[in-house]
Amino acid sequence: MSELKLCQGSRCHTYNTKDRLKGQKDNKTFQTRRRSNLYYGSGNFCSMNCMNDWLNEYVDRAIDHFGRTTEAKHLTEDNAWSKEYDWNSDYNNRQYIYVNGITKEQRPITREQFDDNNYTLNTS
Ligand SMILES: [Zn+2]
Repeated sequence: MSELKLCQGSRCHTYNTKDRLKGQKDNKTFQTRRRSNLYYGSGNFCSMNCMNDWLNEYVDRAIDHFGRTTEAKHLTEDNAWSKEYDWNSDYNNRQYIYVNGITKEQRPITREQFDDNNYTLNTS
């Protein structure tokens, strides 16, 4: 059985929904949600509401910690490659391609290259 994860929303326990009310009969409290799977914010939050609560509280500190964008970024031929696949192709024979958003050039890639988050044609 998989381990239950707690929602990281700082106000999760303050939303008094029935499913958050836990405990013994005369001692029930609204509690942070626990789930085997949480579907928001890379599996950290039970809802958009809880994710937004966390973001509103911590987003400035998180951006300052990981690096704030201080200059506009530019999309050029060198960094415009994105992975796509043909949604109409058969699942077992799906066609994967790299498409350049500036030049519109297309290059076929393998399923492994498509799934590999480190594989890129972008050079900047
Ligand atoms: Zn929550």
